[in-house]
Amino acid sequence: MKVGVLAVQGAFAEMASYWRAQGAETFEIRQRSDLERGMDLLALPGGESTVQGKLLNDLGLFTPLKERIDSGLSVFATCAGLILLVEKIEDSGSRTDTRPEKWFGVLPVTVRRNAYGRQLGSFRTVGTFDGKPNVPMTFIRAPAITEILSPEVEMLSAFNGLPTAVRWRNITAFTWHPELNT
Ligand code: GLN
Repeated sequence: MKVGVLAVQGAFAEMASYWRAQGAETFEIRQRSDLERGMDLLALPGGESTVQGKLLNDLGLFTPLKERIDSGLSVFATCAGLILLVEKIEDSGSRTDTRPEKWFGVLPVTVRRNAYGRQLGSFRTVGTFDGKPNVPMTFIRAPAITEILSPEVEMLSAFNGLPTAVRWRNITAFTWHPELNT
């Protein structure tokens, strides 16, 4: 299996090692021509969604990636990657938690960025993921999924009553970092 890892900003190296540890072949997506390599899965890493959204647009990657996502390419996204996929981002009213200028807007959920506060923004817990117990879950200035907008969205894990990983059609997305579990 061939995994294209978006490598414009953030934790793309960790995401690539995670997929190599699963036996996949990986390559980095930094510019439009990288997409010619073709992929079975697109991995969107954590980082800063505002920066990633801007770079996707500036590098001409936004539209070709959106087309592939819309046509059913499998997507695996964590944290900032999840934020770029969601239909709705809550307006927090804060200057620092603004929405990215542009995001894919396909996954029918609402998120709140930096939902766990600035001081206690990063923490670890252990929970059930997709029926599997005792999975370590690392949250790093994580968003929260505050609303599910379609009955087709499957909840794979939760924390404090809110979903932390979801599956919808071709997309699996996490507010925590499964790529740090290897
Ligand atoms: N706080 C970041 C954002 O809003 C996400 C953090 C992460 O990807 N670990 O984009």
